[in-house]
Amino acid sequence: MRIYYDCDVARRVYLDRERFTAFLISQGMTEQQVNRLNIRFQWMLKERDCPDGHNYKNPHGCYKYGSTVYLFVHEEVQRLTPQRVNYALLHEVRHYMQHARDAAGFQQLLDEWKDLPYRQRPLEQDAFAFADQHKDQQFITID
Ligand SMILES: [Zn+2]
Repeated sequence: MRIYYDCDVARRVYLDRERFTAFLISQGMTEQQVNRLNIRFQWMLKERDCPDGHNYKNPHGCYKYGSTVYLFVHEEVQRLTPQRVNYALLHEVRHYMQHARDAAGFQQLLDEWKDLPYRQRPLEQDAFAFADQHKDQQFITID
């Protein structure tokens, strides 16, 4: 797993790499899949285009198909809580797991369900359910 900080402010956010790696392995990921994962902490001003090519309102993260999870560090201090960043981390890494499990199926589901509202897409529902299930495990701290 590689962790990148795209700006100095984002360096306030700390990911416990060792515990998070153990968690991913316990969730059935291989060491190779964990090694290929990139986590990028990026500064974000309210709204902008996500690196995955979409434009969401107030995104907290996104998964760029391949191996990169982006986590956005917002300027509003009240939004920058460890719980929110952690929840986004769990949600986005679930997309990486979906993709790693079956890349062709992942792409097919994206295409098939792209006209559904965001919250009704099965891959999103699965990612939200995963984050809800594990949100008590905190891997993020902010100084
Ligand atoms: Zn998602």
